[in-house]
Amino acid sequence: MSYDCAIVGGGPAGLNAALVLGRARLNVALFDNSQPRNRVTHASHGFITRDGIEPAEFRRIAYEEVLSYPSVRHWQDEVTDIRRTDNGFSLRTSSGEYVNARRLILAAGLKEVLPEIEGLSDFYGKSLFNCPFCDGWELREQPLVVVSDNPSVFHMVKMLLNWSQDLVVCSNGHDILTAEQRQQLASKGIRIVDTPVTAFSGKNGLLERVHFSDGTHIERSGGFITPTLLPKARFDEALNYQTAENGGIITDPMGRTTAAGVYAAGDSAYVMPSQLIYAAASGSKAAVSVVADLTEENWQLL
Ligand SMILES: Cc1cc2nc3c(=O)[nH]c(=O)nc-3n(C[C@H](O)[C@H](O)[C@H](O)COP(=O)(O)OP(=O)(O)OC[C@H]3O[C@@H](n4cnc5c(N)ncnc54)[C@H](O)[C@@H]3O)c2cc1C
Repeated sequence: MSYDCAIVGGGPAGLNAALVLGRARLNVALFDNSQPRNRVTHASHGFITRDGIEPAEFRRIAYEEVLSYPSVRHWQDEVTDIRRTDNGFSLRTSSGEYVNARRLILAAGLKEVLPEIEGLSDFYGKSLFNCPFCDGWELREQPLVVVSDNPSVFHMVKMLLNWSQDLVVCSNGHDILTAEQRQQLASKGIRIVDTPVTAFSGKNGLLERVHFSDGTHIERSGGFITPTLLPKARFDEALNYQTAENGGIITDPMGRTTAAGVYAAGDSAYVMPSQLIYAAASGSKAAVSVVADLTEENWQLL
């Protein structure tokens, strides 16, 4: 059997795509290996009707809704290889199964590379986060640290003032701020520490101190850190779709990539801001494109 559409990745992007396709009565093969980007956190924010929901509960509800449509089939498995065929695509899973589909939606998300700082994994997702829109409210009016090796930190710090006025910026030894930016931050009372960060400490995921390589420390109860974002799965060599310099899949506004029959959604297409609701919306758009394109193809065959 050939499915109408295969979806690689069952996060909000892939799940919303599956929902739209299932409701359009297309046969869908949905693959997911359960490594969503936000799995380290206990609560997701900013998705209307689901503000504050546990990520696992969000997924439970989403899978329940999607799999109530009889034409959607779910594989709890990793897609390891995708090849183009005469009629579409052949996907191979880690358990050695092959599945064919006429169209393909890539929604595999991103993986984060965090700086190697002792204790970071104890606090990331609990009191250290990457996105103020997702978790700024929970840290409002607290003494915060911003650790970044990315020049975008200046913009982020300005934004963070909406949530807290008590900010310390740690460049972690990187040259990320211009003299003009340093002067502007100083004029707003924002301290910059350039000494590398060696450790975070605190209790039960709640940050208390940031430690530096010169033996000093500062007291902070939370903050933000900028991870490097990389594609979680890459099929560009086999499928020949174009990617941006950062590895994000380039699409048109409706999720079509530069390769015929291949669509992309969510974090893997670097849909920004990187949030659940944008990922879900882009999954919906990619699915509408698949339905529209298959409708045209089927019409010619009638
Ligand atoms: C700490 C943290 C907190 C966050 N908090 C929020 C928040 O409060 N609100 C908010 O809106 N956003 C939040 N985000 C961002 C949010 O997690 C992402 O924007 C969102 O998950 C993107 O959805 P996606 O479907 O593109 O990718 P994901 O949710 O990452 O889903 C991709 C899925 O594809 C699967 N997959 C990958 N490769 C394969 C493969 N080869 N085969 C099969 N399956 C595969 C993965 O296992 C995963 O389940 C947070 C992120 C982090 C890191």
